[in-house]
Amino acid sequence: AVDREKVNSVAKIKVVVRKRPLNKKELAKNEEDIIETLSNSLVVHETKLKVDLTEYVEKHEFVFDAVLNEEVSNDEIYRETVEPIVPIIFQRTKATCFAYGQTGSGKTFTMKPLPLKASRDILRLMHRTYRNQGFQLFVSFFEIHGGKLFDLLSDRKKLFLREDGKQQVCIVGLQEYRASDVETIKDLIEKGNATRSTGTTGANEESSRSHAILQLAIKRSVDGNESKPARVVGKLSFIDLAGSERGADTTDNDKQTRMEGAEINKSLLALKECIRALDNDQGHIPFRGSKLTEVLRDSFMGNSRTVMISCISPSSGSCEHTLNTLRYADRVK
Ligand code: ADP
Ligand code: MG
Repeated sequence: AVDREKVNSVAKIKVVVRKRPLNKKELAKNEEDIIETLSNSLVVHETKLKVDLTEYVEKHEFVFDAVLNEEVSNDEIYRETVEPIVPIIFQRTKATCFAYGQTGSGKTFTMKPLPLKASRDILRLMHRTYRNQGFQLFVSFFEIHGGKLFDLLSDRKKLFLREDGKQQVCIVGLQEYRASDVETIKDLIEKGNATRSTGTTGANEESSRSHAILQLAIKRSVDGNESKPARVVGKLSFIDLAGSERGADTTDNDKQTRMEGAEINKSLLALKECIRALDNDQGHIPFRGSKLTEVLRDSFMGNSRTVMISCISPSSGSCEHTLNTLRYADRVK
């Protein structure tokens, strides 16, 4: 039976902001930290010019569920965002954690450690609280690039979406690996990350144009009997989104870049609409708007939880992108 109380104690949507420290490049250019943080709000100090070219500062204040500054560790990020949702994926719940922000804002830095920390907790629950109850953990990892799906755990094999008529979306050919220990998970995550960042072109740059999706699925055999086929009980998805600024690449000289930019723009808009629809408990969720939201369809239906981590750079040079990120986050909260 599902422990409703446990499930209901976790917020449906949580939006947090993570500010990274100024990096060497920004310091070398004498860029300033323009983000003032409090525990759940922040102020952006934007420098503007008057018509007579004198400078003035415009302040923009935002309030979120939590604001995590440059001193906050990855462990604390985990505790604030994913740790609370781990127990409820054993309670027939699907949850998704997104990292949103411009390229270089810290999405991958933030996202990379989370699935491993979550797996550790999931396995601990499976081995202690739910011992001998037939629960199994599965890992899959793929990316969406230019509206196409590629398996990051099997040499970027191309994948296809299929609907099964019961409102379930199936990714044909996606490899799922069963993992019973943390080492196995660690190897799989490393393998996927390596495949992602090198891509086919070998360029690091590529990862900013793709969404990487790592899924941890909890399955259970009927009656806890492992020889019977296992069914999905809950799922936890980690999504390292494409650089939010890439959605503006729609006027680039390169046709491929323009096409990818349009797809990224479409998917980030669709994502925002889907999360907003979730919050309003609207019956209709516009997941058909993009490949990203279609893939996440089952995670948007029924009992689901969403955590959005908006990553921002503190520097004056990124002010415009930072404001765009915060406005996006503000719309989904
Ligand atoms: P993105 O994935 O958004 O493009 P990255 O996660 O690759 O950005 O971060 C860009 C650089 O900044 C990396 O070198 C990363 O190690 C560093 N970085 C990001 N966030 C932090 C942080 N909170 N503390 C220290 N370094 C960080
Ligand atoms: Mg990245």
